[in-house]
Amino acid sequence: MTAQSRGESWSATVLTLFPEMFPGPLGHSLAGKALKNGLWRLETVDIRDFARDKHRSVDDAPFGGGPGMVMRADILAGALDHVRSGLAPRVAGRVLYLSPRGRRLDQALARELAGQDGLVLICGRFEGVDQRALTGRGIEEVSVGDYVLSGGETAALVLLDAVVRLLPGVIGDAAALEEESFAQGLLEYPQFTRPQIWEGQEVPAVLTSGHHEKIRAWRLAQAEALTRERRPDLWERYLRSTKSRG
Ligand code: SAH
Repeated sequence: MTAQSRGESWSATVLTLFPEMFPGPLGHSLAGKALKNGLWRLETVDIRDFARDKHRSVDDAPFGGGPGMVMRADILAGALDHVRSGLAPRVAGRVLYLSPRGRRLDQALARELAGQDGLVLICGRFEGVDQRALTGRGIEEVSVGDYVLSGGETAALVLLDAVVRLLPGVIGDAAALEEESFAQGLLEYPQFTRPQIWEGQEVPAVLTSGHHEKIRAWRLAQAEALTRERRPDLWERYLRSTKSRG
C-alpha cells in the first residue's frame, strides 16, 4: 500500500543550507495548488542548525588538498539522523543526495519515486559532501544531467517537479500523463491550437478531420519520426521494447 492509498500525502523532506529556496517555483501553478490542497507535503531542514561551533560552520577544506570546501560528514549525518527519527520508516528509507555523479533522473525514476510514500533529499553545496556520510548512511545519488550546478537545490526542485505531477490527483486529466514525452518511450508529437492559420502556417489537416483513428496514427508516426531523428538512444530502446512485445 502506498501513502496515497492510505489517505496520507506524499512527503518530501529537504535538507539544505538554503531552506528559503523552497518551495520556490513549486509554490505556483500545478505543484503549488497540489501543495495547498495537501496532495503532497514539503518540509525543509536547515543543515546549519546542526553545526556545533559558534560560527555555525558546516564545511571544511578537503583532505589531500585542492580547491573549495567539503560539507562535513558529522554535521550532515547529524541532520539526517535527526530528520529520519521523526519520519515514518517508509519515508525515511529513501534518502537521495542530488549529485552529478548519481543515477540520471528520467521518467522511469520519477514514476518509481512517485510510487513511494515520500523522500528525503539532500542538497549539496561547495565541492560536495564528505564521502563517509554517503557511505555510512547508505545514501543514493541522483543527477539531473551531465552538467554541474552550484548547489543541489535547483536539482531537488527539478526532481520534485517531475515527481509531484505524477501523484494521483495533481493533474486532473490522467490521460495527459500517458500521452506525453517518454510515457511510451517516445518524444511527444507536435501540438497545435487556435488560430487554425497563423502567419500563413496551417494546422495539419488531419487534426481538424474529426477522424480519431487517423489522428492517433498521425500522432504516433510524428512521435516516432521525431524520436528517431532527435534521440537515437530512445529510438533503439523503443524498437527493442516494441519487438519484445511482439
Ligand atoms: N565537485 C562536484 C560538484 C559540486 S557542485 C563534482 O565535480 O562532482 C555542488 C552541489 O551541487 C553538489 O553537491 C550537488 O548537490 C549539486 N549538483 C551539482 N550538479 C548537479 C547535478 N547535475 N545533479 C544533481 N545535483 C547537482
